[in-house]
Order: sequence, then C-alpha cells, then structure tokens
Amino acid sequence: MIGQHVFLHSARGADALVSLIDEYLGPMGVTLIVAEVNYNYQYESHPELSDGDLDPAAAGRVADACERHGIRLVPMLNCLGHQSWAETTYALLREHPEFDETPQIPLDNPDIYCRSWCPLHPQVNGVVFDLMDELIEGFRADAFHVGMDEVFLIASEQCERCRGKRPADLFAKAVNDYHAHLVGQRGVEMMIWGDRLIDGRAMLYGSWEASLNDTAEAMTMIPKDIIICDWHYEPRDSYPSVPHFAEDGFRVLVSPWKDVAAAELLVGYAQESAGAGWSGVLFTGWSAGDGGLGLLRALRGEAEEGAGGTGEAAVLRAILPRLVADDGP
Ligand SMILES: [Zn+2]
Repeated sequence: MIGQHVFLHSARGADALVSLIDEYLGPMGVTLIVAEVNYNYQYESHPELSDGDLDPAAAGRVADACERHGIRLVPMLNCLGHQSWAETTYALLREHPEFDETPQIPLDNPDIYCRSWCPLHPQVNGVVFDLMDELIEGFRADAFHVGMDEVFLIASEQCERCRGKRPADLFAKAVNDYHAHLVGQRGVEMMIWGDRLIDGRAMLYGSWEASLNDTAEAMTMIPKDIIICDWHYEPRDSYPSVPHFAEDGFRVLVSPWKDVAAAELLVGYAQESAGAGWSGVLFTGWSAGDGGLGLLRALRGEAEEGAGGTGEAAVLRAILPRLVADDGP
C-alpha cells in the first residue's frame, strides 16, 4: 500500500482532494487515501456533532475520484484522544461533557495538549459507532482509521470510572471495542496510529512518537489484523518499532511527514528490516491543508517556498517513484 493522509474538513476541501487525486495522486501511483474527517461531517444521526459542511454528496465525489484510479479511500475519526486543539474543545465533548475523561479541566484547555473521552463511559461507544457507520457509508469504505495517537490523558484521577486502572488495559479495551464494531460488526479493516503501542523506554523514542505513559503493553492485548500506521518524523539511525510490529504479526504502514531526509531514512529502514513483511507507507499531510489543497498547489508549482504542503510535496516527489517501481509488476 502506498497512502496519503489528508485532512478533509469541508465540501471545498473535497473538491481540492478530487483535483489532487485526478491530477497527481492517482497518476503517481498512490493506492490509499486516509481522509481525516473528525467532526466536520454532516452527521444525520447526531447533527449536534457536525461542525463542517462536508456532506455525503462531497464524500461521494471523493469516493468516485478514488474509484477512477483504483485508490482505497479510508475515512478517519480521532478516537479517544485529540478531542480538543488549543483552546477549542471539539463537538463530542462540547455536546457531551459527561464523556470527558478530565471534567475538571476548563473547556478552553489550559495547560493540556488534547482532551480525551472516557473509554469506560457506558454511552460513548453508541454515539461514536453511529459516526463511524455514517463515514463508512458516505465514503463507501472498506476500512476505517481510528486515530488514537498521542493519548496523554488516560486513567485520570478525575474520572470515577478510570481512576486507579492501568492505562494499557484501558487503551486495549478501547481498541478492542472499536475493533469489535468495525471488523466484527461492519466487516471493514481497522487502522490505527502506532505511538501508544510502542514502549518508548525500551526503544528510546520520545514521548510523542512512542508511549512513556504506560499504554504500550496494550499491543499484546489487541487483534493482529489491525493495520498499524507507525509515524516517525525525525531522522534516526533505526526505527525499531517497525520490525517489532511486523515480527508480532501486524501489517505496518510507516508514516513519514515533510522532512525528505527523515522520510528516506524511515522508508529505507522499513523496507530493509521488514523484508517480506513489508506492507507500505502512509505519507502524512499535517501541513497540507483541507483536502490537501496546500499539497495540490505545491505539486502544481503554485505554492510559495515554505508554504504548507511544500514539504509533503517534496517527500512525495523524492520517494513515491521508487516505491511505485518496487511495487510495480
Ligand atoms: Zn474514564
């Protein structure tokens, strides 16, 4: 698999993504797109959780473009963590404060990175599964990306349900709940960011790209058919999590960002270390804009130097042709 991750937050973003697919990603040989939608979809089941104008028609246009090029389209909803950004608390915890893992932290989020929902709240999955179902339908998807990166608030003292429990057990329960719905009930595949499943102490990674908050043991408690997107954005001599996941039976998509040298190191290390277990790459588009508009402009040569998406474009141009040649017939 050769994938590109982009935010998809509006109908206008969907139009940008269709152009990006038709002009570049399809012809260049991308076979997977992960569209990070979160609460920007017009959810019929929970209209109060809809913060954007992305609707089923716009999702369908993206799905049509992917079909034209044989690309697999996978919607993403950040689960468990990333329920806020800076001072903004996103729709789920804004509308359902009872699901909040840290209800005592004010809603403008002073001194925290991102809020989390409580994996033990008895009603949260019912709501979230409705959203997953609508995205799977709207995007005509056969896989779903649950996010789950950078979950720092877990097993909080502020949560009467989670207080005193082991973070790894709670994280694994969340993964297994979402897997039971997605894979068990819906029959689609499940993708997840890998960082909370990596023991940062054993592998000498930092606290963002690996776990220093006792969630890593969850890796031993979850199904092996989950596809792990193992992101690392810095240049390193080795990326030991990649063979670790692969040897344990998971498929691994290594996920670089916008630094060409670091991306070369990560992808090269993965190809060498994984050997026959090599699953592929998911390029991330964190600064590529809504629908990858910044990436589209950069690939067209319309972006100013250093604009959002130029790094992602440089990484694609440097690495994609070789991957396609290696994967080709
Ligand atoms: Zn809780």
